[in-house]
Amino acid sequence: LNAQESDARHEKILVSVRLRPLNDKEIQSNDFSDWESINHTTILFKNCLGERSMYPNAYTFDRVFGYDESTRKVYEESAKEIALSVLNGINSSVFAYGQTSSGKTFTMSGITQYAVADIYDYIEQFSAIEIYNELVRDLLSVDTTPLRLLDDPERGTVVEKLTEETLRDKSHLLELIAVCEAQRQTGETTLNETSSRSHQILRLNFVDLAGSERTSQTLASGARLKEGSHINRRRNGHIPYRDSKLTRILQNSLGGNARTAIICTMSPAHSHLEQSRNTLLFASCAK
Ligand code: ADP
Ligand code: MG
Repeated sequence: LNAQESDARHEKILVSVRLRPLNDKEIQSNDFSDWESINHTTILFKNCLGERSMYPNAYTFDRVFGYDESTRKVYEESAKEIALSVLNGINSSVFAYGQTSSGKTFTMSGITQYAVADIYDYIEQFSAIEIYNELVRDLLSVDTTPLRLLDDPERGTVVEKLTEETLRDKSHLLELIAVCEAQRQTGETTLNETSSRSHQILRLNFVDLAGSERTSQTLASGARLKEGSHINRRRNGHIPYRDSKLTRILQNSLGGNARTAIICTMSPAHSHLEQSRNTLLFASCAK
């Protein structure tokens, strides 16, 4: 990374774009790629043929990941520093935004595993919810009854009766993440592909250092460690985000003491051109 790129990593909101490869189905149907990452920060529309268009042909972001760049690299260069800032008491969030099949789940599940490996020593409790049609569901419970949101004077908006698992070790955490994925898939078959219309939030509560024997420079501030959330986010029908449960639950993570990484995932396929332009527009406005 050059100096400008590493500066960008200290900003409050870091916006990157990840282009996935064309998939087999797209290749078989003679679809082709419209987009190319020409350097670490620029994505170019390649098929303009010198035509004048109402859309820009090149877009610049904090980071642009080409189709051949690994999720490990995406984590290291777009999410890691923000994810680890929870250890300094900062509310940090990592979002994936993009159309269905653009790679949100692929990207977020990788990033979650890497982030967990980096911070699990400090995680005490784990909970996970899914928001579908403004209904909040506990992903660690087989009970699918919707949960209510309460406004707690100290903690802000909280989910009532949410399961909070106290972690025994790292494998316990990975088990819980697997349980959430399975619960979400069960919902998907009954609710007809909910994941394209639902938000998933994994919430990690970190240990309070005051009682801890650990010494680490990252933790020197001794601040009460809050939470990190990994969000799978998409447009949610007619409910504006500002009024939604997603926004209420994330209030603390989006306010003053917060840092956010937004990774916009994109299909390169020409058949998805309109959606890809929308994604780039969202990404441009997100800064
Ligand atoms: P979304 O969650 O946005 O609907 P997925 O993450 O499920 O999309 O991705 C759709 C398909 O594309 C999956 O089969 C996934 O494995 C594949 N895929 C997504 N991103 C990449 C990538 N960067 N490299 C390789 N395969 C990918
Ligand atoms: Mg998905």
